[in-house]
Amino acid sequence: MTEAATPKKRAKPKAKVEAEAQAPARQVIGKDCVVAFHYSLCEVNAAGELSGWLEQSAGKEPLLYLHGHANVISGLEEAMVGKSEGDKLSITLEPEQAYGPRRPNSVQRVPIKHLHLRQGQKQIMAGEIVAIQTHHGIRNALVVKAGRFNVDVDTNHPYAGRTLHYEIEIVGVRPATPDEIEHRHAHGQGGHHH
Ligand code: ZN
Repeated sequence: MTEAATPKKRAKPKAKVEAEAQAPARQVIGKDCVVAFHYSLCEVNAAGELSGWLEQSAGKEPLLYLHGHANVISGLEEAMVGKSEGDKLSITLEPEQAYGPRRPNSVQRVPIKHLHLRQGQKQIMAGEIVAIQTHHGIRNALVVKAGRFNVDVDTNHPYAGRTLHYEIEIVGVRPATPDEIEHRHAHGQGGHHH
């Protein structure tokens, strides 16, 4: 028996890709987006009353963060999911969703040489916030007592144990660059600088 000659396939005409005129889709916040936002922050007391603003970003550069990498407090990151540029949020977060409960007995004695002092900062006073190099990175802490070589600091976050209220305005959402995903933070104005 002779092998039947395989019929030559006819070259198919290339499918024409119809270029559709599409409006750019609104980027929705999800993993590996870089989000730019403005915020105002105040505290909610036990009676549910709001304090004056503790922080406001209006008039400054908006904050940038890489979504999905725990770069902002958990309650804020959850509230951002599915939102997009132009959206405004008003959220109240219990300490567990924000900076955690206040840990008692968290006063530690730290050598001054382990502090990251601001340029020109020489004397450290009780009541100041200082940056300390720890095994978990740099942390801010409140000085409760200052000595010549050591300071006693409360390592609780200043907002630990507080219920916080945020007014947020999302001013930009874009996909992260490969560098940003690798570094696990946003780059650029309002984000991380190297
Ligand atoms: Zn980086």
